[in-house]
Amino acid sequence: MTHLAHNYHPLPVIIGAGEGAWVTDGEGTRYLDCLAAYSAVNFGHRNPQLTAVAHEQLDRVTLVSRAFENDALGPFADALAELCGTDMVLPMNTGAEAVETGIKVARAWGYRVKEVAAEQANIVVMSGNFHGRTTTIVSFSDDADARTDFGPFTPGFRTVPFGDIGALAASVDANTVAVLLEPIQGEAGVIVPPEGYLRAVRELCTAQNVLMIADEIQSGLGRTGTTFACDREGVAPDLYLLGKALGGGIVPVSAVVGSESVLGVLQPGEHGSTFGGNPLAAAVGHEVVRMLRTGEFQKRARVLGDILDARLADLVGAGIVAYRRVGLWAGIDIDPQLATGREVCERLAARRVLAKDTHDSTIRIAPPLVIEQADLEWAVDQLAAVLAELRA
Ligand SMILES: *Cc1c(COP(=O)(O)O)cnc(C)c1O
Repeated sequence: MTHLAHNYHPLPVIIGAGEGAWVTDGEGTRYLDCLAAYSAVNFGHRNPQLTAVAHEQLDRVTLVSRAFENDALGPFADALAELCGTDMVLPMNTGAEAVETGIKVARAWGYRVKEVAAEQANIVVMSGNFHGRTTTIVSFSDDADARTDFGPFTPGFRTVPFGDIGALAASVDANTVAVLLEPIQGEAGVIVPPEGYLRAVRELCTAQNVLMIADEIQSGLGRTGTTFACDREGVAPDLYLLGKALGGGIVPVSAVVGSESVLGVLQPGEHGSTFGGNPLAAAVGHEVVRMLRTGEFQKRARVLGDILDARLADLVGAGIVAYRRVGLWAGIDIDPQLATGREVCERLAARRVLAKDTHDSTIRIAPPLVIEQADLEWAVDQLAAVLAELRA
């Protein structure tokens, strides 16, 4: 019996150590991590380049608050802005805080720049979205578990079907300040919108003077084979929301990144965070940006992703109904006649592969991008074996 609240239902594995794509429990049993903390561990557990920077910063200074400047934050902001091809960074800690920040910035921009009448701003969001767990964010979720008994909710949001540009165009009006979307919906099961959709959203937002806000907290920073999922359609949003992998699997680091004409609307005292932009976070985040600049991780995601794709294709009809795969990221729909996603993940764990289900019969495969090809193929072998067990 532990004293933990019941807001999670973990698989029965107690991890004590990790290295690269592997984690180890107290008895020394090794498991292949095919979740990578929802992409927060894209660069692997205890990536040596990142832990070296963290150790060095731990021995200098770790937290001063934004009441004073610190010498790690400016260079991190410069590097991250450059990676995003824009000029301003607002550092926070968790993904949900980045989303909340994006919403506040969009509203302030709407009133101060677009000149929407006071209290009238609306933001269009997508069905099936996942943007975090705060009361405002669950206000525009359509997942009953995320919402039930947590109202009253924050007004000012309207939902349209993800991937439907006509529905989006119809819902935008003179008071719309932003369209907020995940370029690929991770929690929904790695849902990829139709080709050209992100470009159409970009064009619509530009034409209607509406901000395009891309929540790349899970899809960004290498996972899809490009630095950002928006890159796949050559689209630059007005605001990037980043988190997860930005902290290198070491500390929570999130950020909102955009142009000065948008992020510049905030004035001192209007927004902040005690921990946001702390020297340890900035040092680690800066190293993450340096690692992404080489393109090495994006390439690994592409190459290993193609291998994963070929292996999964063989399993369609053998217990898998369908799957979606982008970079090293797959949402796999298990035949619901055969098992739930949870049952498949339990059987995978018994075979030393850790993965996570989502929405009944879907499982996700998103290992650290440093995974070895042989280990990735071994993981698919285990999935094939589980499906064979279930079919027997
Ligand atoms: C995980 C996630 C969030 C929330 O991030 P937290 O750090 O858990 O608050 C927001 N958006 C997307 C797309 C995510 O995957």
